[in-house]
Amino acid sequence: MTKFTDLKLGPKVQKAIEEAGYEVPTPIQAQAIPAALEGRDVLGIAQTGTGKTASFTLPMITQLARGRAKARMPRSLVLAPTRELAAQVAENFDTYAKHVKLTKALLIGGVSFKEQDALIDKGVDVLIATPGRLLDHFERGKLLLTDVKIMVVDEADRMLDMGFIPDIERIFSLVPFTRQTLFFSATMAPEIERITNTFLSNPHRVEVARQASASETIEQRVLMFRPSRKDRAASEKRKALREAIEAEGDGLKNAIIFCNRKTDVDIVAKSLQKYGYDSAPIHGDLDQSQRNRTLDSFRAGDLRILVASDVAARGLDVPSVTHVFNFDVPSHPEDYVHRIGRTGRAGREGKAITICQPSDEKNLEAVEKLLERTIPRVEVAAPAPAAEASAAVQEAPAPAIEEPKAEPADQKPTERKRSSRPRSRSGQDDKGRPVVGMGDHLPSFIEKSFEERMT
Ligand code: AMP
Repeated sequence: MTKFTDLKLGPKVQKAIEEAGYEVPTPIQAQAIPAALEGRDVLGIAQTGTGKTASFTLPMITQLARGRAKARMPRSLVLAPTRELAAQVAENFDTYAKHVKLTKALLIGGVSFKEQDALIDKGVDVLIATPGRLLDHFERGKLLLTDVKIMVVDEADRMLDMGFIPDIERIFSLVPFTRQTLFFSATMAPEIERITNTFLSNPHRVEVARQASASETIEQRVLMFRPSRKDRAASEKRKALREAIEAEGDGLKNAIIFCNRKTDVDIVAKSLQKYGYDSAPIHGDLDQSQRNRTLDSFRAGDLRILVASDVAARGLDVPSVTHVFNFDVPSHPEDYVHRIGRTGRAGREGKAITICQPSDEKNLEAVEKLLERTIPRVEVAAPAPAAEASAAVQEAPAPAIEEPKAEPADQKPTERKRSSRPRSRSGQDDKGRPVVGMGDHLPSFIEKSFEERMT
């Protein structure tokens, strides 16, 4: 087995690795680091959770430890698809470069240009950026990319999903032809293949088995959920989620719940709060400082349940998440792999529970095809219709929340159309006005006895 000391990383980097408590390199590190240190291009096909971030940051720090940056001319560039991921890469640099004198700048939206310009003006060894923000700086004439010696593209498949490929191509044309490129993607879509064929030179290809690390340590399950009535599907589904959470008992220390739509992220987080769960939402419509606060408290263990959209939670690095719930089956099967990769990290055990309603079954098939395995299914009994006499015992009292009044500003038109349909809702009269009584003003002892019934 390869040891870190076999890898020819600088002694100061080795010291930081020891302090991080890593014993052996992960497979992608063992294979990518020697090639990167030789100056070769690397094509890493690996998902998050495999240790891929260290597989490029460690050799970069070793190489950059020699030499100095010139004003406005960064010596290396890391491109990441989202602000969160970029911030996480920056944190990795802080951890592994703590004994090396390296300067870095993080160019992400939500941070003032002035602050970032000041850093770049001084000269940085590592520039970590989202593609759009990097090009904004470049176009303002504040940045020269002609001294970039190492360029990293992280999570290229997500860049593709987010429409960043033209930006990436443009950035490749702005950095020197002689640079070294380290390129990472969880999957090799044809468009990604084309980019790597165009911009990488005889790369050392490292492929880490797609779901190997995930499937070994993550227990996966699908809850087949059938609503009793279409107009009750949304609230019954949230109830099914609460039951799934309760069923995990004390084994559930913390969890990320993924929703396909941003509106659902808000609704689910609010609904869980209403039922006494410690939860908060994170998605792209929330401002950066709020997102950071939420992520920090989740990381610190102060927040138990994070309800997230795919993009916002992308690459989220919290080493010990015990559970991932998919409130919906994702429409891109790769997202399933990314989502469940938030748990079971670095050899720990984790559980991934997915709620699948009949309309999601096609998406579930696609996920299973990608994984090349079937995920064990559990049928979830439809809650008894509320109109029946037994409903008071079996069903939740009408939750006072439910869909927010205003749609987020940047919501896609199709989503807006869907959620503005009139519907009959518990907690609202037929004109959509909130009903006062067993809606917003539920006495707490009723909630409590309901919670007890749920366990
Ligand atoms: P990544 O795939 O880069 O998102 O990393 C996944 C997680 O593995 C992070 O929490 C890292 O801190 C951790 N990690 C990276 N390399 C190692 C290693 N060699 N041994 C143990 N944990 C590691």
